[in-house]
Amino acid sequence: MSHPCLSCGACCASFRVDFSVHELQERGGKVPDGLADAITDSLCRMRGTDHLRVRCAALTGKVGQKVACGIYEWRPSPCHEFAAGSDACQQARQRHGLPVLQGVVF
Ligand code: SF4
Ligand code: SF4
Repeated sequence: MSHPCLSCGACCASFRVDFSVHELQERGGKVPDGLADAITDSLCRMRGTDHLRVRCAALTGKVGQKVACGIYEWRPSPCHEFAAGSDACQQARQRHGLPVLQGVVF
């Protein structure tokens, strides 16, 4: 069975993704600078995650079918911490018309 996130991506198309500017490459972090916008002096946000139709600029593929994070190894901390099977995950899946994940904890 493949990982459910590979055929989902709902969280990357549901929530704002904010993180410290220190996670940007230009500040010594890993997140590519061109994919995030500064929100304050200390915070930045993944592009596309504050659009009316949320979709992170790093997401490739079609939500609910086949997706990938284009910067998986360099994604910001909120994405590292987001847990498949969590309440927020289920909420995002519901928003995109996807079934509840049953008994999955990754
Ligand atoms: S964490 Fe949940 S909402 Fe995000 S891609 Fe995985 S299954 Fe989908
Ligand atoms: S950086 Fe990757 S994991 Fe994070 S929201 Fe964007 S596409 Fe999803």
